[in-house]
Amino acid sequence: MIRTAVLGAGLAGLSAADALAARGLPVTVLEKDRHSGGLSSTFSRGAFSFDFGPHRFHTMNTQLLGFVRDLLGDDLLTLERRSRIRLLDRYFDYPLALGNVLSSMPPLSGLAMMSGFAAEKVRSLLKPREQASFEGWVLSRFGRPLYDMYFSPYNRKLWGLEPAELSADWASQRITVPSLSGLVRETLFPSGKVRSLAGEFHYPRGGIGRIAGALEERTRASGGRILFGAAPESISRAGGQWEIAAHGEHILVDRLINTIPLGEFAALLGPLLPDRVHAAAGKLSFRSLVFLTVLLNGETEAKDHWIYTSEDRYMFNRLSLTRSFDPAMPSQAVFEFSCDKGDRVWNAGRGELLKNAMDGAQHLGLFSPDMVLDSVAVRQEHAYPVYRLGYRHEAGTVLDGIKSLGGIVSCGRQGLFRYNNMDHSIEMGQCAALEVLDEGSVEERFHWGEGTWADG
Ligand SMILES: Cc1cc2nc3c(=O)[nH]c(=O)nc-3n(C[C@H](O)[C@H](O)[C@H](O)COP(=O)(O)OP(=O)(O)OC[C@H]3O[C@@H](n4cnc5c(N)ncnc54)[C@H](O)[C@@H]3O)c2cc1C
Repeated sequence: MIRTAVLGAGLAGLSAADALAARGLPVTVLEKDRHSGGLSSTFSRGAFSFDFGPHRFHTMNTQLLGFVRDLLGDDLLTLERRSRIRLLDRYFDYPLALGNVLSSMPPLSGLAMMSGFAAEKVRSLLKPREQASFEGWVLSRFGRPLYDMYFSPYNRKLWGLEPAELSADWASQRITVPSLSGLVRETLFPSGKVRSLAGEFHYPRGGIGRIAGALEERTRASGGRILFGAAPESISRAGGQWEIAAHGEHILVDRLINTIPLGEFAALLGPLLPDRVHAAAGKLSFRSLVFLTVLLNGETEAKDHWIYTSEDRYMFNRLSLTRSFDPAMPSQAVFEFSCDKGDRVWNAGRGELLKNAMDGAQHLGLFSPDMVLDSVAVRQEHAYPVYRLGYRHEAGTVLDGIKSLGGIVSCGRQGLFRYNNMDHSIEMGQCAALEVLDEGSVEERFHWGEGTWADG
């Protein structure tokens, strides 16, 4: 009987464990935190209950949607996305729609944007831009004015990097660019088919963490073990098996499924991997987030799920409103501050974050500081894999090195170093379980096709 250890109890790890336990196979999940769910958890303490940033569940895979519906039953709500971008002291619909941009923008800025767009089209015929970087990719599709106004400041704040240092993969996974005629057509006669315009999504009553909660419960009910506070200390070979020291135990397994950050996993494998793999792993980094959540006495007038704030006057790059997802949840605004672990923002005290958030909320016309009952700051180190130029080669080197050891599947957002969504992690976890059973590899089964694009 194949014994498996799964590292990480996020959606990828739990989905793998759920699938293995359902087949009656022994599986142990090792999670460093005291709860499951990883990035898709719901934080609950005292009167607070909120997700780590806005999470909307959507998938093009009807089987997967059915799977999540089975987990949650009637508690899976269906909602219509309402998001906006704050720019130039006014609101624009998100995703950007030409009609809305032109009618809401100051006329001169609108004119500059359109002429920049047209100038770029001409330039692309004469001297096409390089397409490897985020900067080149976006400039060639939107022109300089919109790039300078929105894409460049937003991405500098989000990543702490110059857009020229970022890979174009980040843009191509995130941004849909219809042609000018496509934009006009989509604005006048919306088809709902352009991928970033897909507005409907699902959300579990009570918080996104309920998906992981249901998977955790089902895994245990089928006999799977889930250990919390159980970060592995070492991983070594023991004959044909893997031996993991964790939680005061030495756990022997035939197969390993990894969903923890790729670099940390490579470090655990130590001398089993060559130096060049460790060198590549050392170049992979994650962007962190500090979530400042304020509990409000009453409702805000805004009904958005989230609002992007690209301008430098706001230290935060986005805020979300919990009640827009589920009216039964506490009235809270969650502010996201992008940072690197250990930098000034990461170390900022709650008072400083709160002051900036309150100045911002007032400037945005959302609520006044006297509505705030309480606040809490929570830090998430591995929020976003950083797609620096060259990251693909480095991640590939690490993944190939791990694969060559045999008996290990690395998947999920952290384990693949891939900016992906919840549905991708669930599906990958399920595919990883099948790979353990020699029923086809994740690579063969999981397709990054149309619709597999990143959201949060
Ligand atoms: C701000 C934000 C908004 C998002 N919005 C959306 C959205 O709207 N829609 C959507 O579909 N997706 C969204 N996502 C993405 C979604 O959260 C992730 O794709 C998904 O949760 C990843 O699941 P995972 O299991 O692959 O990884 P994770 O959730 O990161 O799970 C990894 C697990 O490993 C554990 N771990 C780490 N190190 C160790 C260790 N050394 N030992 C043991 N355990 C360890 C972690 O604690 C964690 O539980 C968003 C993400 C963010 C950050």
